[in-house]
Amino acid sequence: KDLVQMAVAKAGLLEPEEEITVPVIQKALLIGGGVAGIQAALDLAETGYKVYLVEREPSIGGRMAQIDKTFPTMDCSICILAPKMSDIGRHKNIELLTNSEVLEVSGYIGNFRVKVLSKPRFVVEKLCNGCGECAKVCPIEVPSEFDANLIPRKAIHIPFPQAVPFIYTIDADHCIRCYKCVEACQPNAIDFAQESRELELDVGTIIVATGADVCDPSFLTDYGYIKFPNVITSLEFERLINAGGPSGGHLIRPSDLQVPKSVAFIQCIGSRSDKSGHLYCSAVCCMNTIKDSLLIKEHWPDTQIFVFYVDVRAYGKGFEELYRRAGREGVIFIRGLPAEIVEDRKTRNLRLRGENTLTSELYNIDAGIVILSVGIEPRLDSDLIQSLLHLSKTSDGFFMEAHPKLRPVDTPTGGVFLAGCAESPKDIKDSVTQASAAAARASILMAKGKVTVE
Ligand code: SF4
Ligand code: SF4
Ligand code: SF4
Repeated sequence: KDLVQMAVAKAGLLEPEEEITVPVIQKALLIGGGVAGIQAALDLAETGYKVYLVEREPSIGGRMAQIDKTFPTMDCSICILAPKMSDIGRHKNIELLTNSEVLEVSGYIGNFRVKVLSKPRFVVEKLCNGCGECAKVCPIEVPSEFDANLIPRKAIHIPFPQAVPFIYTIDADHCIRCYKCVEACQPNAIDFAQESRELELDVGTIIVATGADVCDPSFLTDYGYIKFPNVITSLEFERLINAGGPSGGHLIRPSDLQVPKSVAFIQCIGSRSDKSGHLYCSAVCCMNTIKDSLLIKEHWPDTQIFVFYVDVRAYGKGFEELYRRAGREGVIFIRGLPAEIVEDRKTRNLRLRGENTLTSELYNIDAGIVILSVGIEPRLDSDLIQSLLHLSKTSDGFFMEAHPKLRPVDTPTGGVFLAGCAESPKDIKDSVTQASAAAARASILMAKGKVTVE
């Protein structure tokens, strides 16, 4: 060692760092309360570790709560998610921090200090019984984010009926402080004196499950998403077909509220294209469309359904079978995306023009409604988490793993793990699988109880 120090001093270099062994804090932080964050939090809590689950929205649930059915099993999405959400709310090892954001992270593997901003709801959690009397009298309406902006919600609201926690929240950006809700609230739960709080949490491990955004197809001017009322996105469709959604589960087209006789799905919107800047495949939209087309056939069997695709990617367990079933039930798959959509101003029907790349023939197909099968994008605000946790991103903008094959849920930052669509587009099953893997990796570190750092 002396020789090394002499050589280092002679060369004017820094001395090698000393290795020390430090204890690992037996608590974990989960960032994001979608299905991946929920699964990882439950796994860790069941293993016996204390978990802080930080979610920026007023409720956990994420995208899965918005979807009507899941593929390939066609289960009701919220029916299988809601019990897990309730478990989070009840678990003695989980501290749920909704309406909250991570502000700062310091420290190192096994010993992180995290500053969290908890924003006010202006409703006292212990007093609100969820009766909804406040929303009945609130005069302010804004588009409901949960219902893909198709219907309004009030300034005081609960995002959806299965929300956890089931507590109303005042949207301070739109509230005009008329205090009508205060008069209507019997338990006196409304408190405009509430302020933001900063919390400091000490944790040993962190799992990033911040999810992803959905592509906004407005940039595809040839498809007229903004111009034509009967061109909608697949997320809007999910809310339309949902029994708890804006139309009570009836597939109606926006222009005249009639059930369309023909439906066209266009695939790969915002994915696999230079135009969108996203060359990757979003992995879920082919199967989502197949599922949606079967749902339409189930309720309105006479509807003509066309799916315009680039390739059909039905790679998972039970996927090919579902794809074949759609074919048997009369769904028409046409290879080759439309070059343009033209609207008949009188009927508001849509004509899709393009080339069938299998037969090299041109097509002109009419549809009552067009559903743009939108892809998955990295979250717009992912730079913040990236810088707080010193993460890296791959060229597609999703968070990078420590090793794509051998350490797929670790990150290059020790003690920080990834779960769900924050790492890459994936379906519910893969998100849950990855979440359990991330929880296992975090558990290994915490079970060891100590870690050697430089
Ligand atoms: Fe009911 Fe008051 Fe809660 Fe509104 S804030 S749901 S009125 S208890
Ligand atoms: Fe709505 Fe705000 Fe008026 Fe309450 S004070 S009723 S939330 S606008
Ligand atoms: Fe296109 Fe299908 Fe991939 Fe989605 S899953 S990007 S629709 S190929």
